[in-house]
Amino acid sequence: MENLENVYAYIDANSRDFVETLIQLVRQPSISAKGEGIQECAELVEKLMKETGLTTRIIQLEEGNPVVYGEIRSGETDKTLLFYDHYDVQPPDPIEQWISGPFSGEIREGKIYGRGASDNKGNLVSRLKAVESYLKTVGDVPVNVKFVVDGEEEIGSPHLKQVINENKELFSADAVIWEFGGTDREGRPCLYLGLKGILSVELRVEGAVKDVHSANAPLVPNPAWRLVWMLNAIKNEKEEILIEGFYDNVKAPSKEELHYIEEIPFDEEEWRRELGLKEFLLKRSGKEALKALLCNPSCTINGIVSGYTGAGSKTIVPRTAMAKLDFRLVPNQTPTEIFGKLVNHLRNSGFKDVKITKYGSTDPAKTPVNDKFVQTVAKTAEKAYGKKAVIYPISPGSGPMHLFKNAYGYPIVSVGCSHPEANVHAPNENLEIESFIKGTKFIALLLQDFSRT
Ligand SMILES: [Zn+2]
Repeated sequence: MENLENVYAYIDANSRDFVETLIQLVRQPSISAKGEGIQECAELVEKLMKETGLTTRIIQLEEGNPVVYGEIRSGETDKTLLFYDHYDVQPPDPIEQWISGPFSGEIREGKIYGRGASDNKGNLVSRLKAVESYLKTVGDVPVNVKFVVDGEEEIGSPHLKQVINENKELFSADAVIWEFGGTDREGRPCLYLGLKGILSVELRVEGAVKDVHSANAPLVPNPAWRLVWMLNAIKNEKEEILIEGFYDNVKAPSKEELHYIEEIPFDEEEWRRELGLKEFLLKRSGKEALKALLCNPSCTINGIVSGYTGAGSKTIVPRTAMAKLDFRLVPNQTPTEIFGKLVNHLRNSGFKDVKITKYGSTDPAKTPVNDKFVQTVAKTAEKAYGKKAVIYPISPGSGPMHLFKNAYGYPIVSVGCSHPEANVHAPNENLEIESFIKGTKFIALLLQDFSRT
C-alpha cells in the first residue's frame, strides 16, 4: 500500500456523499440525558458500519444504552487500531438560540449545523469514511480497525466499565484514537494525551420543617448560612482546596510535559474577549495560566439554591439549602479517594448535618508524551496539515478514557476533525466541511503510517 493518491482521490470525489452521511446521522436525535432517539441512532450507526464493510455487533446490557461495535481485519498486518467514539449528544437547549433546527443538519457557509455535528458524529463519520476509502480503492485496510461507539458518553458512561469487563478480548488493540480534537485558530492540529478526572457532588442542609418568619432568626437555624460556611471550609479565596489530604496524590507534571506545555500557543486575550473578562482568576496569565488550566485540580460551585429568589423581598429563614459542586482531578487523584476525604473533612469541620450525595465520576488518565504512538500521530498530523502538531499532555476535560487505560494500558491519543468555532455543547454546533474532509484524509494517512511503525 504505497500510494495514498487513490485513497485521497476517492475522498475528494465522494466528499458530497460523506457530508450526506453525516447529515443523516445528525438528523437522528440521540440525547442520552433524556433517552431520546437512542435505539434508533445505535441502529443507524450499525447500518453505517455495515455499509462501510465492517463486521458489527450491538452490545446491550440489561440496563444502559447500547454500545455499537465494529471491526475489519487487514490482510497485511496483525496490528490493531481502535477508535473510541460516541453517538449520543448533549441536549440542544436553549433551542431558541439555534438559527436552524438543532437536528436539521442545515448547511450554511460551508458548515454543517446540528447537535452532534462535531461532538461526536463528525469524527465518527470521518473515521468510517477513511476506512471506506481504503476498501473502495485498495480493497484492504492497512491495519486492523476496531470501533467502540458509546451511547452514554455525554452522561458519564455509567455502564461502560461493565461493557469492557464483559468484552475484554473485543476491545484489545495496540493503540487507541480517542473521540475529540481538531485544529486550532492557526490551523495547527492538536493532540490531547489525557483527561482530567471528575467528581460531582451535591451538598444539602436542612433547617426547620418549613420556611419560618425571619423575626425568629435569633432562634431558628438557617441552612443557607450553614451551606455558606461549609463551602468556605472547602476552598479559600486563593483557590486553595482545604480538604485535608486533597493534594496528597497530585503528581506534578514531568519536565518533558512542561516542555510541551511551553510550546502550546495560548491566545489568552482572544479568549478573555470572548468571555467578556478583563482578567483571569488570580490574574493568571501566559504560561502560568495555561499550566493552571491543564495541571491544577479544581473545585467549582455549579449551582446554589435556597430560600426566596423572586422579585422584591420576602423575610424568611429558608428551610433548606443546596449546592452542586464538581472537582476536576489530575493524575493520580481518584474520585473515590477525594469523596472520602470530602466526607471526613466536613465531619471533622463540624458539619455533621450535611447530606452529601455523589453523582458521576471518572478517574484521570494520561499517555506519556514520549510514547512511540504519540510521536507517530504527531508526525502524521504534521504531514496531513502542513503544520507542526500542538501536543497537550492532558486536556482540562474529562471522560471515560481511564476505563480503557486501566484495563489495557495501551497508548491513547485524542485527535479529530473539529475546529475552534464548532460551538460544541452550545447552540449552533457545527462542523466545517473542509475540516471534516481534511480530517478524513488525516485518518487515512494515520492508518497507513501506524501500520509501518
Ligand atoms: Zn461532548
